[in-house]
Amino acid sequence: MVITNKLKYDTPLLRMGGRDIALSREIKVLGLTIDDKLTFNTHVTNVCRKALNIYKQLARAAKVEWGLSPEIVRTIYVAVIEPVILYAASAWATAASKLGIRKHLNEVQRGFAQKMVKAYRTTSLNSALVLSGLLPLDLRIREAASLYEIKKGYSRRVVEDRAVEVPIPYARAPHPAKIAHLEFGMVENSADLIQRVNDGPQVFTDGSKIEGKVGAALSLWNDGAEITVKKLKLEEFCTVFQAELLAITKATAIIKAHRTGGIFSIYSDSRSALETITRGVSLHPLVIETRKNIQEAAENGKTIKLFWIKAHAGMEGNERADELAKEAALRLKKKPDYDECPISFVKRILRQDTIGEWEKRYQTEQTAKTTKLFLPSAAQAYRMIRSVQPYGKLTQILTGHGGFAQYLNRFKCRESPSCACDDLVEETVPHLLVECPIFERLRFDLEQAIDVRLEIDKLHEIMLDKRKRSKFLEYSIQICGKVNNKNK
Ligand SMILES: [Zn+2]
Repeated sequence: MVITNKLKYDTPLLRMGGRDIALSREIKVLGLTIDDKLTFNTHVTNVCRKALNIYKQLARAAKVEWGLSPEIVRTIYVAVIEPVILYAASAWATAASKLGIRKHLNEVQRGFAQKMVKAYRTTSLNSALVLSGLLPLDLRIREAASLYEIKKGYSRRVVEDRAVEVPIPYARAPHPAKIAHLEFGMVENSADLIQRVNDGPQVFTDGSKIEGKVGAALSLWNDGAEITVKKLKLEEFCTVFQAELLAITKATAIIKAHRTGGIFSIYSDSRSALETITRGVSLHPLVIETRKNIQEAAENGKTIKLFWIKAHAGMEGNERADELAKEAALRLKKKPDYDECPISFVKRILRQDTIGEWEKRYQTEQTAKTTKLFLPSAAQAYRMIRSVQPYGKLTQILTGHGGFAQYLNRFKCRESPSCACDDLVEETVPHLLVECPIFERLRFDLEQAIDVRLEIDKLHEIMLDKRKRSKFLEYSIQICGKVNNKNK
């Protein structure tokens, strides 16, 4: 294969052992089809076909008479289709912004989004995505590619000058044969704790995130009295998990540097932190450091025992560490002791970007007019739509694509677009919901129940209020059912 940006070039002639070696237009490497123009058209076509085939096979295997339920379609989409298409996204993400490829991706996604909400086939992608709560596929591809680049350090997007917390490379991790076996004990009440007092010095650790600020602390005890404390500051984007881990790491460092040997105990109320440390498979930089400290301390005659301590159970040392960690978070003014940016933070920012981009697209595109009456913002809809789970009749109402005279007439399934109430008025969703005199009774009852006068401009506000929304949707489904029956 020849990759060049020259328009004219001489085709190289290759011979090996007296045989001509033919040029090919594309090659497949590790499941990625690379073509000589780097368009990735063939790759996208291939993955889309592969994804659809998997779906077809699963659907056939399930063999449910009425087709797959929307929840199952969603599961298949999230667990199979998206990963298949996102595979090696960072290699071809730039191609996903091209119109031809986007069209192809949209087609695949539209089918799934429609099935998830049981929408009419004519429903636009814009509507179907908002109602199914799926993010546009091309934006997801861009997001996955950005995340990969940031993790690998190729891109400073989002993180800017911050350091990203990445797993320790395998080469620098301890040799599997040398991973020491660690475990932690449980302390559930004061009686358990008192038994341990004579074991030797005790370090209570805790991490805290409060008002968006993060801190950690340790409190060192000997013979039942506090000897010293240490407060630690973390960057605001850090997580509580990082704070808990940092406190334990510092505790092991202090013990390692301690003059005398013997037994030392560390108490933490974070079970997940202790589990991650003791399991020994994590490549988290703080976990690796902690394990290293414990091992080095052991080589110098110091035994470090780890304990999980029940939080808020009135145990003095733990309460003290908790209080100190909160203080550290809120009042400690110093350069952070730890400032590595967690991947979860990067993901969150990237997701916000994606939603922002989608919002722009949703607003500017001409489609989804009826959907926008109810859900004017894609970002807002994304947050609440899973609790609504539009399906069937509700989807008809929210898209305007359904058994309504105006729609049926538009697609040549009915002679007249007018409503039964008046020959001059088209039977559309807005008309049925807020004007049509046929449903005046129902509407009156609803208005009493939610204390709002039904108007087109009020619909999106009703959708934002959980209680009003459920009453309003019930009302809509009822009307849709009646109109569907009439138009059969
Ligand atoms: Zn009417």
